[in-house]
Amino acid sequence: MAIVGGCRCGAVRYRIDAGTMPPTYACHCTRCQTSSGSAFTVQMPVGIERLGVEGETISVALPTVGGAISTIHHCPACLTRLYGVGSARPAIAIVRAGTLDESAILEPAMHIFTSTKQPWVALPEDVPAYEDNPGADVWAQLLA
Ligand SMILES: [Zn+2]
Ligand SMILES: [Zn+2]
Repeated sequence: MAIVGGCRCGAVRYRIDAGTMPPTYACHCTRCQTSSGSAFTVQMPVGIERLGVEGETISVALPTVGGAISTIHHCPACLTRLYGVGSARPAIAIVRAGTLDESAILEPAMHIFTSTKQPWVALPEDVPAYEDNPGADVWAQLLA
């Protein structure tokens, strides 16, 4: 399966080198709400060596809720946010999973920062949810 995606205008395309669709999570933090202009983001962490990007991106460095710095890559033409790389985990690219061509088949494996979740968003009962940033053990399991 080719795991591919890109920006809204098509100037930047990417490919994730993985045998199966990597897991995603939904982030309900206020910064994701602001940057997306929506209620939450769906993110797909992948090893940075697995992410092949075609086309130039422009980046901006912004602090995360946890105090790390996230370098966020956008299409320079349509400004779609494609992925970010955090200073806390520089080997991991956090792909905005809604930019995948087949984003409709994604189902987040966990929900984080639910303490700031929009009240009308109902979470599935069988998916783990964390009020804040989950611990390192949870992240290690997702990234395994
Ligand atoms: Zn674009
Ligand atoms: Zn967030």
